[in-house]
Amino acid sequence: MQTRFDAAQLTDPDTAEAEKVLRKCVHCGFCTATCPTYVLLGDELDSPRGRIYLIKDMLEQNRPATATVARHLDRCLSCLACMTTCPSGVHYQHLIDHARVHVEMTYRRPLHERWVRTLVAKVLPYPSRLRAALALARRVPGPLRRAAWLPPSLRAMLQLANTSAARAHTVTPAPAPAPAPAPALALALSVVPRPSASRSAVPFRSAVPFRSWSWPPLPAGTR
Ligand code: SF4
Ligand code: SF4
Repeated sequence: MQTRFDAAQLTDPDTAEAEKVLRKCVHCGFCTATCPTYVLLGDELDSPRGRIYLIKDMLEQNRPATATVARHLDRCLSCLACMTTCPSGVHYQHLIDHARVHVEMTYRRPLHERWVRTLVAKVLPYPSRLRAALALARRVPGPLRRAAWLPPSLRAMLQLANTSAARAHTVTPAPAPAPAPAPALALALSVVPRPSASRSAVPFRSAVPFRSWSWPPLPAGTR
C-alpha cells in the first residue's frame, strides 16, 4: 500500500513504525475471513482491511478521529485473528494500538460513553467490584434493564449479566478426578465473577488434556 507521510511526521517513531506496517498491506482481504466483527456485521469498515484504511487516512492527514472512525476502531476486539491469516505479515497490533492512542488524544466521546467507559475501567479489572456489580445488575428489574433511555452499552451489559446468571444454573458437574488446569486457564478461572461461574468451564476443562501438552503420535502410515 502506498503511503504519503511527510518527513516531519516520520520523525515520530510510532508513526514511522505504522508507516512500515501500512506499506506491507497488499489489500488482498484474506484477513477478513478470520475477523469476527466482519463476519458478524458484514461491513468492510468493521474488517481489518477497512480499519487499516481508516487508520491510514487518519494518520496520514494527521486528522482528529471522527465519531465514525472511533466507532469502527472501538468495535475491533484486538483478538488479532487477522494476523494469523495475513500473507504479508502486517503487524496489525501495532497499527490498532497506535490508532487507539490517537483516538483517545483527539476525539471527545459523548458524555454517556465517557461515563460507561469510566465505570468499566473502575469495575472490570477488580474481581470483588465485578462480583458486586454483577450482583447489583441481577437485581435490576427486567423492564428497567430494557429502558430506552439507558445508554445502549449499559443496557447490553445488564442483559448480559442476567444471561450469564441463567447459564450458571445449568452447569455440568466435573467428573472426578478432575485434571489440574493449565496455569493460564487457572489464572483465568481465578478471576471469574463468582465461584459457580468457574463450573461453567468444566466441560471445556475436562475435554482438554492439561497434564500433557505433547502431540499424540501420528497414525501409522501418515509420517
Ligand atoms: S490479509 Fe494482510 S495484506 Fe491482505 S488486506 Fe489483510 S492486512 Fe492487508
Ligand atoms: S483484531 Fe480481531 S476484531 Fe480486530 S480487526 Fe483483527 S480479527 Fe478483526
